[in-house]
Amino acid sequence: MPEFDVDLFVIGGGSGGVRAARIAATHGAKVQVAEEYRVGGTCVIRGCVPKKLLVYASRYAHEFEDAKGFGWTIEGAKFDWATLIANKDREIARLEAAYRATLTRNKVEIVDGRALVEDAHTVRLLKSGAKVRAKYILVATGGHPVLPEIPGRELAISSNEAFHLAELPRRIVIQGAGYIGVEFACLFAGLGAKVTLVHRGDEILRGFDEEVRHHVRVEMEARGIHVVLNHNIAAIEKISGGLCARFTDGNSHTADIVMFAIGRRPNTANMGLEAAGVALDKKGAVAVDDNSRSSVPSIYAIGDVTDRLQLTPVAIREGHAFADTVFGNSPWISNHANVPTAVFSEPEIGVVGLTEDEAKARGAIDVYKTMFRPMKVTLSGRATSILMKMVVDQKTQKVLGIHIVGENAAEMIQLAGVAVKMGATKADFDNTVALHPTTAEELVTLRTKA
Ligand SMILES: Cc1cc2nc3c(=O)[nH]c(=O)nc-3n(C[C@H](O)[C@H](O)[C@H](O)COP(=O)(O)OP(=O)(O)OC[C@H]3O[C@@H](n4cnc5c(N)ncnc54)[C@H](O)[C@@H]3O)c2cc1C
Repeated sequence: MPEFDVDLFVIGGGSGGVRAARIAATHGAKVQVAEEYRVGGTCVIRGCVPKKLLVYASRYAHEFEDAKGFGWTIEGAKFDWATLIANKDREIARLEAAYRATLTRNKVEIVDGRALVEDAHTVRLLKSGAKVRAKYILVATGGHPVLPEIPGRELAISSNEAFHLAELPRRIVIQGAGYIGVEFACLFAGLGAKVTLVHRGDEILRGFDEEVRHHVRVEMEARGIHVVLNHNIAAIEKISGGLCARFTDGNSHTADIVMFAIGRRPNTANMGLEAAGVALDKKGAVAVDDNSRSSVPSIYAIGDVTDRLQLTPVAIREGHAFADTVFGNSPWISNHANVPTAVFSEPEIGVVGLTEDEAKARGAIDVYKTMFRPMKVTLSGRATSILMKMVVDQKTQKVLGIHIVGENAAEMIQLAGVAVKMGATKADFDNTVALHPTTAEELVTLRTKA
């Protein structure tokens, strides 16, 4: 009898787990993957993908506004939440089926249901009680949204439920101004809801460049989003006609929906990990080395459950690196430096590299900055401006960070990220001929030091 039933057992069929399973299988490994909810995981089912679809929907509001300036008359434009959600659900179901088909085509066996770690080489399937002996176990269980321990928390929703609301809320209070809270605030506002965003800190989007944080908040407020800083929701009560969110300053707000986006916790509870000897960090994430190996040599972990950078492409690369290293005889390490990232707020943010403050803490820098009205709104007169900022190391002239706020910021930063990752200098940007008329050309014509 062989010592192991499979070469690899992956727990969690999300972004990271699916990539690891597929690549390991293409290297000849016998692979099973367990998924307790829906294959595709957070990103596909209730994260990046459905969110971006809702963001697209919400942006028609200002597209219609701009259109008027270009001579269009748009009469009777109406939005229907039920249609959007049904179409979104159809697309998510299509994607889930595609993920399943890819795994099956690559001879990965999908086990529907929850799986737990029994010991260094054994996984227990909760539904059947069956035990699977695996040479390697990969924990790719992701994370879940946290709700605060306050009275009335059961009346609130997280991003998970926001994708399935029966109707568009007329009034919504969102607590948490990280990227998820900010994105939902903007998309609900774009769809016509009255939005209040509550945040315990003194500015939104902690971790982003200070000027970016300020610029986006001002733009959000100009679009009618009520931002309440330095406060929390202390309690939620049911009242006639909705919910009442009581703030820590004693004020209260009436809404149809109260949503929390205050952070996500790694899915490591009741998984048998600690009993099997797998060390967790202070936040409950699986502690791993650069190769994603845990304290148990046969157990690896990737993606959000390791709480390194909670982004889909990061989970995917970690999964790919794991599979190539362990099964493909071609070791490599997923590098977390200069990962481009975006916030699909309104206006959008695209960022790569260091903020001004982070760069300053490392040495002398030059900062180049521009703020201007995009050409697209000149005819409609819509009030919005684009911010672009480049942080440059004074000695080497290497570009350390680029920060863009404005339409298509995410698309621009993906490409600017290549240059920053390659170690481009300010002169390299300057030597690139501008493509006119575009927004991105401003990145190669930055002359004014801030
Ligand atoms: C609202 C929202 C918006 C986001 N937007 C973006 C974005 O725009 N760009 C971006 O890069 N990232 C975004 N993210 C983050 C991104 O979704 C995650 O970083 C990514 O999904 C992590 O992948 P993962 O494989 O680590 O985990 P997940 O995708 O979460 O997959 C884990 C899977 O494991 C399953 N599971 C858990 N425990 C078990 C168990 N014991 N047995 C079996 N199955 C189990 C879960 O059901 C889940 O399907 C967003 C997240 C959210 C919540």
